[in-house]
Amino acid sequence: ALLTSGTPALAGNGPAYKDSWRPVKVRVADLLSRMSLDDKLGQMMQAERLGVKSPQDVTTGRLGSLLSGGSSQPTPNTPVTWADMYDGFQQAALATPLGIPLIYGVDAVHGHNGLYGATVFPHNIGLGATRDPRLVEKIGRATAEEVSGTGIDWDFAPCLCVARNDRWGRTYESFGEVPQLATQMTSIITGLQGTRLDRPGSVMATAKHYVGDGGTTGGVNEGNTELGEQELRAIHLPPFKAAVQRGVGSVMISYSSWNGVKMHAGSYLINDVLKKELGFTGIVVSDYNGVDKIDGKSGFTPDEVEAAINAGIDMVMVPYEWQKFIDTLRSLVDQGRVPMSRIDDANRRILTKKFELGLFEHPLTDRRFLSTIGSKPHRDLARQAVRESQVLLKNENHVLPLSRHEKVFVAGKNADDLGNQSGGWTVGWQGTSGPVIPGTTILQGLQQKSAKVTYAKDGTGIDRSYDVAVAVVGETPYAEGKGDRPQGMGLDATDLATLQKLKDSGVPTVVVLVSGRPLDIAAQLPDWAGLVESWLPGSEGQGVADVLFGDYNPTGKLPVTWMRSADQQPINVGDGKPALFPFGYGLRYPRHW
Ligand code: BGC
Repeated sequence: ALLTSGTPALAGNGPAYKDSWRPVKVRVADLLSRMSLDDKLGQMMQAERLGVKSPQDVTTGRLGSLLSGGSSQPTPNTPVTWADMYDGFQQAALATPLGIPLIYGVDAVHGHNGLYGATVFPHNIGLGATRDPRLVEKIGRATAEEVSGTGIDWDFAPCLCVARNDRWGRTYESFGEVPQLATQMTSIITGLQGTRLDRPGSVMATAKHYVGDGGTTGGVNEGNTELGEQELRAIHLPPFKAAVQRGVGSVMISYSSWNGVKMHAGSYLINDVLKKELGFTGIVVSDYNGVDKIDGKSGFTPDEVEAAINAGIDMVMVPYEWQKFIDTLRSLVDQGRVPMSRIDDANRRILTKKFELGLFEHPLTDRRFLSTIGSKPHRDLARQAVRESQVLLKNENHVLPLSRHEKVFVAGKNADDLGNQSGGWTVGWQGTSGPVIPGTTILQGLQQKSAKVTYAKDGTGIDRSYDVAVAVVGETPYAEGKGDRPQGMGLDATDLATLQKLKDSGVPTVVVLVSGRPLDIAAQLPDWAGLVESWLPGSEGQGVADVLFGDYNPTGKLPVTWMRSADQQPINVGDGKPALFPFGYGLRYPRHW
């Protein structure tokens, strides 16, 4: 922003909005005064990048934003292809008459998880177990750096849902069942956004999903949260309040309903509570096709668009039919059904963030951050997070920690599987089993500790020559509604068969559960000498091995109440239901072992 002469740009040297020396407010007002209705409607659109045929679409549609949804990585999926793609789209946005840069968003919900080779941190449920907001802030910072290395400016994280029913498929995206945990962990927002949004290596964060996504009846994804206002405010609102206080740049609206009204049409909670009462001045963004879903039928109608925009949604994740959306919104404005003041307010909010992010001054990828992607310091941080997230639930006769002198037999479908230990939102939306990302499996972590580790996935070959067996079992990847478990919540047949072999051998067995939530294990628990809940640790399996071998004395505490049986769901702290392990439970090793 400095002229070569070293003097600030002076009024008259060009439009005020291009002058970085002026206050953001002045720049926004100036830019807004120059924009046509087409410019303004375009700014409010967030298209899926697979929904634009070429960067040219960004120019002609005057699109304000793009996103890469869960499964829309560039092919090949490398940091440089991401950065090049970003820059290509950004150039297209800069080619519009006013040269308004676009803002690009991804779901980096446990590290820059859409990118092959990124550091993949534990999912939020594990971070909730750490009770360590400073660690979580550092994870935010590391994630922001890796995201910045690929040009991306906006992260659809953190999920501040308070998961009240573990049947819900997004329980692992929650920091825990009480509002205090998500509130504490809003520290991740400070990590992501840095001290200033325009500081290199900062990205804009998103508090999602506003509000009550974790409180639906039956734990149904995108379901109905049936709660009185007082309870909604007491359980689900506090993390959003904290996020606003931390200056979160955006808030994403929940697919769920509150007492039968779709949040995407919930004017009271968005306009009156979030914007007026909490004083949120950033961008309210819809969820993916969220406007579409207001009436429960596919395809958005003028009524839905009117309801959503007037409810206070500033930017719509369209994601494909952005041209139709623009046309619909234009005709609503023409008919006076959506007031121009609402369009201007939405634009003011969007443009303010773009100026604050420094996009007008530095629109292209800051490639200095490419080298941070999957770097040693970030992987070390992830390993520390994995250690701190492990929760020791049972330790009969001090079967743990393992010793290097013991013969250890390792089994289980999740022992040697990076995809399974990372869960959903890993490269693909749903995640996949197998070696989908670079990293270290739990088995590899154990093998690095001791030469006396033998492995057979299904437990074949276990006999009395072993001192201890470690069974790494649990869930396989899922995301959103695909993870809902309306029926049972127990271990699958594969796991039960593996565990049976270990039991039959008579060797004391330690179970390591890789799962996004508590499972219904009360019937098997008496068979096990030890139990560790590992959650979804991500790319650094050594952190689990550190705890199992006692190189780290476990400190993790349950962020959720552990059911005795699935039919107790929902079960939460303070509700009087008898738990298998209470909220906050977590053992340590004795001081000298
Ligand atoms: C999810 C959001 C996510 C969005 C964009 C939706 O299906 O509910 O959490 O940010 O997709 O990928």
